[in-house]
Amino acid sequence: MNKPIIGIAATQLDEYVEELYNSQVHYAQGELVEAIRAAGGIPLILPIGIPIEAVEYVSHIDKLILAGGHDVDPMTYDEEPHPLAGSLVPKRDFFEIELVHEMRRQKKPIMSICRGTQLLNIALGGTVWQDLSLRPEETTVKHNQAPTRSDVVTHSVFVEEDSELAKIIGENILVNSFHHQAIHKVGHGLRAVAWSHDEVIEALEGENILAVQWHPELAFKTNENDFEIFKHFIKDM
Ligand code: MN
Repeated sequence: MNKPIIGIAATQLDEYVEELYNSQVHYAQGELVEAIRAAGGIPLILPIGIPIEAVEYVSHIDKLILAGGHDVDPMTYDEEPHPLAGSLVPKRDFFEIELVHEMRRQKKPIMSICRGTQLLNIALGGTVWQDLSLRPEETTVKHNQAPTRSDVVTHSVFVEEDSELAKIIGENILVNSFHHQAIHKVGHGLRAVAWSHDEVIEALEGENILAVQWHPELAFKTNENDFEIFKHFIKDM
């Protein structure tokens, strides 16, 4: 059987770093490339494009992974930037939103990680909290574990019994965590299926969609659950 081609939507260096290099750099994380390969897929990095190109890119891949990175531009969900919001790469956001729509049109599976999950939720009509502190619930779990190593799992997550995710990794898991924003209103066709102790949504699913708030690509070598997620996405979705 041919290995599936897994598109990875690239990110871009911050502008001040590009000024240092005097060059533009589109890139994907090496760990994500490695995780896809280890799980039996062919990783293919898609540069940040213009939205009209999405149809061509999507026709060349079997599945798409939306990776972590910058905050999503709050304009994409009709909010002003809150003072606690982070830095943005709007052209990545607009391209990835069109990739999501085109993947839905072509009925191909999407997996998303951290910011990728927030972007996917927004593309499907949802919103995010621009900072965890803006939620009505008190944030009592450390959701940005830095400087703890990224392959160390630090907080627990409860997975809904009646979910696809629970079939893959069970109902009580540990995850790494590197986010300061969180899913607020859940997008169309998605449902929340996992939460941290302080009620942050940690995973969403929908038809052909597997979306997590943590970083399985950074811990898949040491944490079996995280490798199972990649294997499920690449082999079974
Ligand atoms: Mn978390």
